[in-house]
Amino acid sequence: MLIINHSQVCELLPMRDCMEVVAEAISHLARGEGVQPLRSGFLLPDRQGVLAWMPGSLAAGRPFGIKVLSVVDNPAELGVESHQGAVTIFDPANGSPLALCEAGAITAVRTAAVSALATNKLARPDATTVAILGAGTQARSHIEAMLEVREISHIRVWSRDPDKVEAFAKEQAARYGVIVEPAADVASAVADADIVCTTTSAREPILFAEMLEPGMHINAVGASIPSWREIDPRVLPVVSLFTDRRESLRNEAGEYIQALETGLVEYGLVIPEIGEVVNGDHPGRTSETEITLFRSLGLAVEDIAAAKLVYERALERNAGVEVNLAR
Ligand code: NDP
Repeated sequence: MLIINHSQVCELLPMRDCMEVVAEAISHLARGEGVQPLRSGFLLPDRQGVLAWMPGSLAAGRPFGIKVLSVVDNPAELGVESHQGAVTIFDPANGSPLALCEAGAITAVRTAAVSALATNKLARPDATTVAILGAGTQARSHIEAMLEVREISHIRVWSRDPDKVEAFAKEQAARYGVIVEPAADVASAVADADIVCTTTSAREPILFAEMLEPGMHINAVGASIPSWREIDPRVLPVVSLFTDRRESLRNEAGEYIQALETGLVEYGLVIPEIGEVVNGDHPGRTSETEITLFRSLGLAVEDIAAAKLVYERALERNAGVEVNLAR
């Protein structure tokens, strides 16, 4: 088994290439190929974090695997990434483990790569302005991803900490050579934006229906557990909703569950999956003024597809450390 660390994953998994492999994985999944159970997890005894595990399999003949993660509440204070752990992939031919890849880097890139696919399908083609809510790992990877799919000239970033967001904006502007400005509050970050990415660890809503404007596209990425909400449930009736997996939406998206329970959204509506849009089975955006929202919950098949690419590249470049577990 090959062990591949954080910096090696970053080097072997460029955003553009990751977009290709996750597109294939979600396309297969939407056609009923591959296996994608719901993730599981539990709150740690001190209630300061969770242990989560996300199993899945790509289509027949391709690797299967699992991501195991610890997600702590205060990563910045502890000086660690919010998502720590490993993605292990297995050989479908004989069931042997092939690789164990650092999960934080895979999660950062694959999540933003799926948002980029959704944005490419759902945002207006002339979108130039992006609002990023949050200034952490996903905020960073989402800036890179949005720049891959639209001619972005202007980015506004909001986080709760003005000093942090100022430094973050400077760093990103220098990195990509586009205007990146800190915003004083969520409403001013979002005003006039063509694309909004919510990438915070907020547990209470920060994005509300009155902030949305015709023609916007939103990638809603945070709040991956049912008791958390990053977007207000009243957003849902005013948007065309898309998701990565309907089963995950119904079981894991707090604002969607609340919208169902309070009658804001009808039970029985079939929410399109982004894989169905990729496959051409759903048209995606159908008008200039429609507000589209891609609700990302995150799927193991995305991690496994990304880890497979990292593994293949590591073999080609003689990277990683080989360990014989079976010896
Ligand atoms: P980071 O810890 O790197 O960044 C989180 C950001 O959210 C920081 O800017 C942080 O602090 C801000 N934040 C924290 N608490 C709050 C709050 N109560 N209200 C508003 N902002 C807050 O985390 P990641 O970037 O790795 O993850 C961000 C979110 O995305 C998490 O909810 C995570 O679970 C989710 N996620 C979703 C994935 C998916 O597939 N959909 C995959 C991976 C992560 P500050 O305001 O001080 O800047």
